[in-house]
Amino acid sequence: MALKLYDTMARAKRDFVPSDPRRVTMYVCGPTVYNYSHIGNFRPVVVFDVLFRLLRRLYGEDAVRYAANVTDVDDKINAKAAEEGVPITAITDRYLAAYNGDAAALGALPPTAQPRATQTMAAIIEMIGRLVHNNAAYAAEGHVLFNTQSFSDYGKLSGRPLDEMIAGARVEVAPYKQHPADFVLWKPSKPGEPEWESPWGPGRPGWHIECTAMIEQELGLPIDIHGGGIDLVFPHHENELAQGMCEGHHESYARYWLHNGFLNMGDEKMSKSLGNVTLAHDLLKQQPGEAIRWALLGAHYRQPLAWTEEALAQARNSLDHLYGVLGRARHIQAAGGGALLEDQLEPLLDDLNTPAAMALIKKLATDLDTAVRKTAAEAPAIKHDLMALAEVMGFLQADPQVWFQGGADEGLKARIDGLIAARDAARAGKDWAEADRIRAELTALNVEVMDGPAGATWRMKEQA
Ligand code: AMP
Ligand code: ZN
Repeated sequence: MALKLYDTMARAKRDFVPSDPRRVTMYVCGPTVYNYSHIGNFRPVVVFDVLFRLLRRLYGEDAVRYAANVTDVDDKINAKAAEEGVPITAITDRYLAAYNGDAAALGALPPTAQPRATQTMAAIIEMIGRLVHNNAAYAAEGHVLFNTQSFSDYGKLSGRPLDEMIAGARVEVAPYKQHPADFVLWKPSKPGEPEWESPWGPGRPGWHIECTAMIEQELGLPIDIHGGGIDLVFPHHENELAQGMCEGHHESYARYWLHNGFLNMGDEKMSKSLGNVTLAHDLLKQQPGEAIRWALLGAHYRQPLAWTEEALAQARNSLDHLYGVLGRARHIQAAGGGALLEDQLEPLLDDLNTPAAMALIKKLATDLDTAVRKTAAEAPAIKHDLMALAEVMGFLQADPQVWFQGGADEGLKARIDGLIAARDAARAGKDWAEADRIRAELTALNVEVMDGPAGATWRMKEQA
């Protein structure tokens, strides 16, 4: 079965055919780094990480070029820097480091490139120059605007009439615009804000042109896959597409457009402006990143995802169970026929059906548990299939013992190990009262002790 992806432009699932299978390209719009990102912002990170892993599996690790950008020029960054009285880079470096740390904790592989707007300035200015030269943009009052009337396909991606789009997006009406839908490619900076020299005066780029220039510089146009959240279809992606098509003679801008649905709190999307956010940075202090990842992939990426405590608790239970199986199958050497069986990948090949793939992981784990109990000959093959599918999804990469002890910090771990050793010694000396007392102390620390032939092991009990 071939990979099928739902393409927003075609409004249908299409067979994925890269323009060059030896160099598959994907770009996903990333964060504006002025604050910690909320868990909704990490939905695209995790979803496109699964696609990145799948593409690497299908085309080879070195064949996939995945650029995920960072917007490090923005009014909100300027405001935050002014508020703290520090240079802009102090803000962007701090929050980019936090973002990358959180993404890694959620099991996302680093993208092959992470371009930044500030490092793409020459390419941005050149691209605006080409747009002006091609009559797709015009300069007015220190600004450069994209001329939406020059591109007959404008609106094709979002598929809405222009009037409706303008009303919906509340586009800024400015006297220097020839048409209300025209959007900024370059604008003057306010006093004290960072600015760059350009043929149209000092200033800074608009958000949309940053992405188009980063794509051109990092990957080259057209790209195979362009991704982001559904809120980016209009105006951001519509505008990226218009710029890309008008700046050069490309057969297309992105061959497949993929958009993830919202992560919702109750009836509303999680968003900073609504004030209903949970920061990944905070949540990761309470929950293993893998459990959050499991919860984020628990709905198909195009569907809305209801974010609830119960879903997170269930995710943790599922992983407890899976790691429990792997712990019991520790002595089994995974061995398969080499290549991953098509059956195992089938749910992911069908437009990244992660809930179905996770159900398959659970089924394989149940099969493995049974095979281990019965010491059946197929246990190594089942373990191979399970681990191969889990790897493509970024799950079950930890040692089972580390998973179960993950709730304890280093100090607590040392204390628990000491108590376990003291209890083993008490039992060896048949001092049952002392052994029971120590067990009670461990229970009070929320530690579950499991006695086995090679001595006792332990795990943190689940949080109530
Ligand atoms: P932003 O920093 O708002 O530009 O968002 C960064 C990425 O997160 C974009 O791809 C957005 O579409 C996506 N995003 C923002 N909020 C949510 C949400 N509640 N659920 C899913 N994706 C979101
Ligand atoms: Zn973008």
